Amino acid sequence: MTNVSPYSKELHQAIQSYEELKTSQSKNAAPQNKDSFTEGFKVGIGGLPLQKEKTIAKQGASFNLLLVGQSGLGKTTFVNTLFGTSLLPNIWHNVEEVKPNVKFDKTTRITAHKVHLTENGFDLDFTVVDTPGFCDFIDNQFAYLPITEYIDEQLRLYMFQEEQPDRKKLVDNRVHACLYFINPTSKGLSPVDVEALKNISNRVNLIPVIAKSDTLTANELNEVKVLVKQIIDGQNIKICEFIEDQDVKDNILKDIPYALIGSESQVLKGNGNYSVRGRKYSWGIAEVENPQHCDFIKLRDVLMSNNMIDLISTTEKYYESCRVKLITTRFKKAKEQDDQNLSPEYADSNLDFDDPDKNGVDNVLKVLSKFNKPRVDDLVIEWSPLFIQKQFVQKKRLHEVVAFEEKKFKDWKRALFSKQTSFNDEIEQLHDQIKSIQATISKLKSHSHTPPQHSDESDEKIDVPSLEEDHLPIHEEIESAC
Ligand code: GDP
Repeated sequence: MTNVSPYSKELHQAIQSYEELKTSQSKNAAPQNKDSFTEGFKVGIGGLPLQKEKTIAKQGASFNLLLVGQSGLGKTTFVNTLFGTSLLPNIWHNVEEVKPNVKFDKTTRITAHKVHLTENGFDLDFTVVDTPGFCDFIDNQFAYLPITEYIDEQLRLYMFQEEQPDRKKLVDNRVHACLYFINPTSKGLSPVDVEALKNISNRVNLIPVIAKSDTLTANELNEVKVLVKQIIDGQNIKICEFIEDQDVKDNILKDIPYALIGSESQVLKGNGNYSVRGRKYSWGIAEVENPQHCDFIKLRDVLMSNNMIDLISTTEKYYESCRVKLITTRFKKAKEQDDQNLSPEYADSNLDFDDPDKNGVDNVLKVLSKFNKPRVDDLVIEWSPLFIQKQFVQKKRLHEVVAFEEKKFKDWKRALFSKQTSFNDEIEQLHDQIKSIQATISKLKSHSHTPPQHSDESDEKIDVPSLEEDHLPIHEEIESAC
């Protein structure tokens, strides 16, 4: 056994014991019943108390696995395959729908399947969180958002629970690992897959799997595996990012993406002498637990025995870093709030907002209570890429409306000016006409001073208005009349 983490000496011993146990069990296994699911299942869990013997065996552990992938890729079947519901129907004690705290227009229905396992005095709460509806949106640009929001929210919820006085009621729903189901028919990864994988891999130990691998020929499966690996490397998608030990990481990485076959039922094999978990086709049986058919056993070993502790402990480390960041943010926001006097009801001049350690725990708790969960929830909505995008779209729309109205106004002003110019031209013409009429009248007047050879009518005086003296220029008159 080379690829073990230095996480604990006990773990090394545990895995050795586990391997010995596995060898002895396979030697003693009855050839009539080759349903190794129950065997493997028990061996995996049985290994855990050994791994964690000296650390958390007494208090037990929680392991939370998140399944992400498009509808119909076999996630539910995988849960049932992993737990073997057909064999252990009573083990389920809770199936609940998780309602994300932060609301978006449409969100995936996130469902937690919980199972409580006890073996050799070791308690394990194993939760598989299914995300039906992923990629069911018309626009899948932010299809990953309910998933990343769920992961982040569990960390925040745990943090807020830690601030409560009664820590016994602490419920640990932090996600320790995420299986991402890749469509076997697609050539590698779609842009939606890449975006989702990138965003998820920053937050959780991510393990990509090829769903329904029995639908691919051996060559096709190899090609898809190579292609997926290339895309993962090319796009810098991080697999099991939080695991620092390179040997442990390499051990997990060497088989990614894990090819899976899921089945909820047993099929008879060997002339009906024994049964295996698999999918029966006219040409033969695709066996879930046959390493030549798929990587189910390798993956189950990673998740449920060899690396469960690594996944839990590294998530714990990541959680600590998130906790520090969130506390720092809450301190900063509480200070801003205090500066703006947004919450005078909490005003306390003795508080220190700059140094979380100053004035002890009391100071920390008081400052944190100033920027409490509802305020953090509001902040999270503001941080959401969907919110930011919506805000961007609204701003763009506002900009478009303003630009449209401005253009309308400018056109209207231009039309008004051109009308004014044409009116002015008309006025000018009228003015010229008046001038020429006045000239004619003046001429007529001057003729009227010549010797009186006229009739009585010629004595009548023609009263011609003087343009210069009595009246404004006609265009100004019109303008002032307007
Ligand atoms: P989910 O929507 O991702 O939860 O998918 P389901 O688990 O409901 O499976 C959808 C369909 O795929 C069902 O008819 C399953 O029997 C089938 N299915 C599940 N796993 C496999 C598999 O490994 N291979 C094949 N060929 N079909 C599978």
